[in-house]
Amino acid sequence: MSARITLRCDREWRDGSCPRQLPTLAATVDDARQYGALEHWTHHGGRDYCPLHGGPTGRTATVRLDIAPQNGDTPS
Ligand SMILES: [Zn+2]
Repeated sequence: MSARITLRCDREWRDGSCPRQLPTLAATVDDARQYGALEHWTHHGGRDYCPLHGGPTGRTATVRLDIAPQNGDTPS
C-alpha cells in the first residue's frame, strides 16, 4: 500500500505542456483521481487536468468549481 501515483495535467500547447502535478498516496489510479477531484482536478477523455485547465476542455466534468474563471490557459 505504499504505491504513490502522481496526477499530471495533460494540457498541452504547441510549445509545451502544463507542469502541474498532484502527488497522491493513492494505490490505484482511480483512487488518485478521486483524490484529485477533491483538489478540483478533472479527468475526462483518458486525460487528467489541473484546476486551471479542467474547465475549457472539461465541460462534462461533474466537479464543482468554486474558483473564478481563468483566462490564462491559452498563452500567446
Ligand atoms: Zn494544467
